[in-house]
Amino acid sequence: MAYTYDPQNIFARILRGEIPNKTVLETAHTLAFHDIHPQAPIHVLVIPKGPYVTFDHFAAEATPEELLDFHRTTASVIALLGAGEGGYRAITNSGLNGMQEVPHYHLHILGGRVLGRMLDH
Ligand code: 5GP
Repeated sequence: MAYTYDPQNIFARILRGEIPNKTVLETAHTLAFHDIHPQAPIHVLVIPKGPYVTFDHFAAEATPEELLDFHRTTASVIALLGAGEGGYRAITNSGLNGMQEVPHYHLHILGGRVLGRMLDH
């Protein structure tokens, strides 16, 4: 599958420092920041710094260092925010069916309340 990355997407602009963000954690390959429209008391987005469009793009083409850093940083974010104790949901949306709004791979970490069932229907 060929992936086309749009360098003008909003998360690319955040990574270039053109748009501010509320950073939770930043490493060499990964940035975690608060969602601008939180849907739960904890709602953080974890993104790789590299130009990956979707989860499958990242999983298929990222380097071992990027993959490791992304997942270890996500674990650190969950620990930092205390999301592990009560539990949380990690979601990623892709493309039209997933109703992905921003075409830069991101993992939503949601927690701080009972989140309800994963899908309404
Ligand atoms: P998606 O629907 O692509 O999975 O989720 C995109 C998420 O990005 C949404 O939850 C939306 O609130 C968030 N978002 C969109 N623009 C911005 C922004 O400029 N800053 C931050 N922090 N979050 C954003």
